[in-house]
Amino acid sequence: MPQTTVKIPTPLRSFADGKAEVALDAETVGAAIRRLTDDHPGLRRHLLTGDGALRSFVSVYLNDRDIRTLQRDATPVADGDVVSIVPAIAGGTSGELRASSSSRGGTIALAPERPFTQDELRRYSRHLLLPEVGVTGQHALRRAKVLLVGTGGLGAPAALYLAAAGVGTIGLVDFDAVELSNLQRQVLYSTADVGRPKLDAARARLEGLNPTIEIVPHGAHLDASNALDVLKGYDVVVDGTDNFPTRYLVNDACVLLGKPNVYGSIYRFEGQVSVFDARRGPCYRCLYPEPPPADLVPSCAEAGVLGVLPGVVGALQATEAIKLIVGVGEPLVGRLLLYDASSMSFRQLHLEKNPGCVLCSPKATQHGLIDYPAFCGVANSAPALGIPEVTPEELHDELARPDPPLLVDVREPEELEISHLEGALAIPKGELPERVDELTRARSVVLFCRSGGRSADATKTLLDLGFQNVRSLKGGINAWAERVDRSLPTY
Ligand SMILES: [Zn+2]
Repeated sequence: MPQTTVKIPTPLRSFADGKAEVALDAETVGAAIRRLTDDHPGLRRHLLTGDGALRSFVSVYLNDRDIRTLQRDATPVADGDVVSIVPAIAGGTSGELRASSSSRGGTIALAPERPFTQDELRRYSRHLLLPEVGVTGQHALRRAKVLLVGTGGLGAPAALYLAAAGVGTIGLVDFDAVELSNLQRQVLYSTADVGRPKLDAARARLEGLNPTIEIVPHGAHLDASNALDVLKGYDVVVDGTDNFPTRYLVNDACVLLGKPNVYGSIYRFEGQVSVFDARRGPCYRCLYPEPPPADLVPSCAEAGVLGVLPGVVGALQATEAIKLIVGVGEPLVGRLLLYDASSMSFRQLHLEKNPGCVLCSPKATQHGLIDYPAFCGVANSAPALGIPEVTPEELHDELARPDPPLLVDVREPEELEISHLEGALAIPKGELPERVDELTRARSVVLFCRSGGRSADATKTLLDLGFQNVRSLKGGINAWAERVDRSLPTY
């Protein structure tokens, strides 16, 4: 039987004894995945549906080909083939085509260009010396309008390079304030900016870097009601978001408006980059028709990220945006670039348009924007979903009484080293279904995590398993630290 290597992505390695790859014998890709889930049952719910089919938010590649463009599960495997599992990852952090006005190609009538000033010529001299950019390309950059959705880990380095390159109009979408924990990777901001709105701090920094360009802040939360209006004024969109609802929103708006979407995402040590341009290649929905369930994907705030990783990925996104504007090189259309910082390797997977894509195929059934939080299953807060919560103050009182609730810490082991609650039983959220036996004797259980999201999911898991007296600590251990025990650090 042929021997194949199955590459396991970082988010799933904890379900495969930490392995990055597994060698196994199988005749087909489907058989290889089933062998893998037989050997590592914890992987099953991440990869397969109840009836054993591959889940739609997991892409599987044989070498560099998506098996959906081959024979799917039945795709035969040859000796030495590599099967890659590529899950959807949301991360930015927290958070094209060439520009339609580009002069290359000569199809668009242009107003006469204002000549560059002496200062501009000096500022851009290393571009002007580069034959692939030159004066024509630099003019294209000055005319271009690029929108950065998110000014966090990915948007920060992308914004710096686009401003430095002389992109004439840079729109910024963000509504957060700078936090101390951002500075590990969001290189747009300085310590003095902590507490300041990101848009104000970003604008000041970018205008300081290049006063000849225009920075346009968009401080509203981007949603289905305003996305088309915001995006329509731009030539290229750079997606630096950190959550699935906004990713799908940005993708859909770009497809509907016919704009290129320079995609980047990060997770721990790994990044993905592509250019989605539905006019000549796949869109994000072609790759991932549906988002993963909210409870299967940790965010960067939960999972951590190597600070320099978004720097690399954001710089790659800026590179692709500049190439699209100037009209040079081969854009990443139809290719997914995977970057692994820990092994320092880049791989490329070939992407094809999904002939059944609901958005960008001839069979499209979606012709407008939709309700993205509902689509991604994150519409409801814990109380709206009927998940019982307890406040830090209430929990504090209950712990002082006889027969206090059992505390269960569902965070990852690394987080326990930052802060912990005395007497809490540590069971990472992913291990909970296998370790419920440890809870059955408790009269009541309170689950907690960093800020209350994972513990709400875990509470729902236990309620679904038939547990009665289970609650989630509202706001997590960070809220406890702020309101009950100020000696505990927050993170
Ligand atoms: Zn599509």
